[in-house]
Amino acid sequence: MTRRTVANTEERAGAETTSASRCVPLSIATICRRLRREYGPVTPWEVLPPLDELIATILSQNTSDPNSDAAFAALRRQFPTWEAVRKAPLARIVRAIRAGGLARQKAPRIRGVLNTIHRQRGELSLDFLHDLSDDEALAYLRRFAGVGPKTAACVLLFACGKPVLPVDTHVYRVSRRLGLIGARINAEKAHVELARLVPAAKVLEFHIQLIRHGRRVCTALKPRCTDCVLLDGCPEGQRRVASPS
Ligand code: SF4
Repeated sequence: MTRRTVANTEERAGAETTSASRCVPLSIATICRRLRREYGPVTPWEVLPPLDELIATILSQNTSDPNSDAAFAALRRQFPTWEAVRKAPLARIVRAIRAGGLARQKAPRIRGVLNTIHRQRGELSLDFLHDLSDDEALAYLRRFAGVGPKTAACVLLFACGKPVLPVDTHVYRVSRRLGLIGARINAEKAHVELARLVPAAKVLEFHIQLIRHGRRVCTALKPRCTDCVLLDGCPEGQRRVASPS
């Protein structure tokens, strides 16, 4: 039995799937269940304090995971505390995070975040975010220069365990192709649309599984639709299979 056969026989046995017009959208629960079967469950990760997560996420902007991990590790190695980073000359921070790329943009961003938190709170900690509502915590983080909805959501989801969905490039692309959000909606508005659609209990799994799927099957340039377990519920996949280019 092929993957496509499996996909076509579960939940919607007998559904006609030969054209995009007959394609019935998959529920969030079904998407998560099928992708979990493919890629396995979400595995535990190292939970960082919210301030560490914010800085790690700033370092991850527009670069690969290994590069941003290397930059974060170098920053922590060279500066014993965030206070030391805050007081360091900008050039030293730039040198420390060079492995992550865009160091000249990210270094002032990081120092700006540290200065603002220090001025407002009198200490370098974002632990108080745990006590805010999701919307209050998002609004607080979005005030920092260079902190968009994706970065703020990563901090709240991964460090605070709040059900706030980060929409990265993979989540955005796969969600559009599946028809969960409109084709013309931008990434910022996608956060709002998907927040309405994805139940709180599914936010973490939806985020992780769509990233896995976007990296392995639903890639940007050549999605492997005929191997995809979501094909029967994917308008874009149905179009591509019907008219291969
Ligand atoms: Fe992506 Fe194709 Fe799967 Fe749709 S069917 S989710 S376009 S790989």
